Amino acid sequence: RAKDSGRNTYEFFTAEMQQMAMARLGLERDLRFAIERQEFILHFQPQMSLATNQVVGLEVLVRWESGTRGLVSPAEFIGLAEENGQILALGDWVLKRACQQYVEWFNEGIAPGYIAVNVSGRQFRSAKFTSRLREILTETKMPARGLEIELTESFLMEDQEAVMRTLNELREMGVTLSVDDFGTGYSSLSYLKRFPISTLKIDKSFVQDVPGDDEDVAIVSAIIRMAHALKLDVVAEGVETAEQQQFLHKQGCQIVQGFLFSRPLNADECGKFLRKRLEESSSSSQIA
Ligand code: C2E
Ligand code: MG
Ligand code: MG
Ligand code: MG
Repeated sequence: RAKDSGRNTYEFFTAEMQQMAMARLGLERDLRFAIERQEFILHFQPQMSLATNQVVGLEVLVRWESGTRGLVSPAEFIGLAEENGQILALGDWVLKRACQQYVEWFNEGIAPGYIAVNVSGRQFRSAKFTSRLREILTETKMPARGLEIELTESFLMEDQEAVMRTLNELREMGVTLSVDDFGTGYSSLSYLKRFPISTLKIDKSFVQDVPGDDEDVAIVSAIIRMAHALKLDVVAEGVETAEQQQFLHKQGCQIVQGFLFSRPLNADECGKFLRKRLEESSSSSQIA
């Protein structure tokens, strides 16, 4: 009897595992076609200065417009694309498309200071990363100063020598670097003084419960103070409420990003958002 139930458990798990493997294969196949057919689009989420109430930058967030699956969030496919290497083609496309879009806005006179592009560890580590980036900047006429690369903290801890070389190359090009999801990587903080980093992005999991949660209040204010002491910019992500904004402002966090200001917008919507903001600020400065 014990043997029977053991066997049933075994079969139950294999059936479930087989189903998961099938789903993964399906996703992998669809993703490959999606890259060939260019089914991806970029969304842009404004980063606002609390001092000036202006858009200072835009984070670029990829979405998959699948014919069969609908609009798919990156959380559902970036991990797989990293594992199987498809992130290389996808990441290349994201960088190029993001630069083209920035230059378009730049030429129209509505571009903010920078676009921030998420780059996965695997893409960053690939031997061709910096040379390909140079090519993209040249082809799109993108000013290197207008590009920020977001890397996650845990990735910065792997293979530090190689990472450092690439980071230095980027800095020489004029591209800036920000540490995404800061505080979630459980890493040593010593890299902050060694790596040429310009910005820390406080993870939204910490921002979510301020000012109500004492521990998150302690963590967020410590990150802000540390960033200032190290002369780094600090961006709070996932800001959804006026209370969170007030708290961050009081703590001295200058740049905020989140649904309170804007959801990630497609290129048309984002163009409108940028134009509207500029019109509002020029009319309010006329009054003043
Ligand atoms: P991330 O870089 O930390 O991006 C922030 C995520 O928070 C985005 O999710 C954004 O839509 C979401 N968000 C923004 N404001 C708020 C808010 O006020 N509240 C809440 N709850 N969420 C907010 P999204 O677009 O689903 O992206 C998820 C993750 O996928 C990103 O996290 C990033 O790690 C990755 N990702 C997105 N685009 C790319 C890409 O082009 N390349 C790579 N390698 N990864 C990407
Ligand atoms: Mg990011
Ligand atoms: Mg983040
Ligand atoms: Mg994240």
